[in-house]
Amino acid sequence: MKKLNAVTLALLLGAGIVGITPGAAQAAGRDGVCDAGEFCLYYNSDQEGSVSDFTGSIPDYGATQPSCYEFKGAGNGKGDCVKNDAASAWNRTSDPVAVYYNSDYGGARQGIAAGAKVNLNSDLKNENASHRFNDTSTGKENLSHGLYNLSGGTITCGFDGYVNTPGRHEGIDIARGIGSPVRALVAGTVINIVRGANGGDGLSTIAVYNATYDRTVIYLHSAPLSGLSEGDTVARDQQIGTEAWRGISSGSSAHTHVEVRVGRRELAAKSVNDPTLDNPNPTSFWNARGYNVR
Ligand SMILES: [Zn+2]
Repeated sequence: MKKLNAVTLALLLGAGIVGITPGAAQAAGRDGVCDAGEFCLYYNSDQEGSVSDFTGSIPDYGATQPSCYEFKGAGNGKGDCVKNDAASAWNRTSDPVAVYYNSDYGGARQGIAAGAKVNLNSDLKNENASHRFNDTSTGKENLSHGLYNLSGGTITCGFDGYVNTPGRHEGIDIARGIGSPVRALVAGTVINIVRGANGGDGLSTIAVYNATYDRTVIYLHSAPLSGLSEGDTVARDQQIGTEAWRGISSGSSAHTHVEVRVGRRELAAKSVNDPTLDNPNPTSFWNARGYNVR
């Protein structure tokens, strides 16, 4: 779906049907130019040949046309699939990016620092299958980045991290700003949606159950996407909502509460004013999914 969307967008851009104005901190989209904020792969060494510019992580480039991610800029390799065909890279994002030998961020890995221009090493040259933004030195993505696939998110309250609030915090609060895209951190089936409303009495809930791990990840306070329905299957990184303040008294405190529950659970555990901690510490779960808890 993502790949088709990218292709569709590329077609629309090529036809001049939609225009995207690059802002100071906003990458310009996949237009064959390596803009600020993007991560770029090149067909040849030393940032030569055709370029493929990316605005986010790609777990699988696809291997065949017309659906693969391709080199788009002028020069050698233009139109070829990026998979197993890149020789160099330029990281124009503000975070480290890593290139992987396998799809889904597996196998040999080369970390590329923010701003760096590099040739892919011998393991990765023409053997690249995925790349991940904000891929830190631990080889994991920060949870506060993964929730949005964007920089700028921060954990504002950790698991069981209440300082002045009575009770036990059953999840992790992550904030980036109202309207930020909230994405599924783990794939699964949507088993409950409560849409709620901004304000203290309007708590919203999105519950995504993953049968493989027998865990439910519950997202509170965001605005569920209008097209999202119970029974939908969502992929990791798929947008499910936008950051809001549903169930929070003030917009200035908007955040997304992310909670991992054992088994299939439609609702979050009670945190405020509840002295009992119901959920296990989620750090090992998130680490196993490729995330740092930060
Ligand atoms: Zn919370």
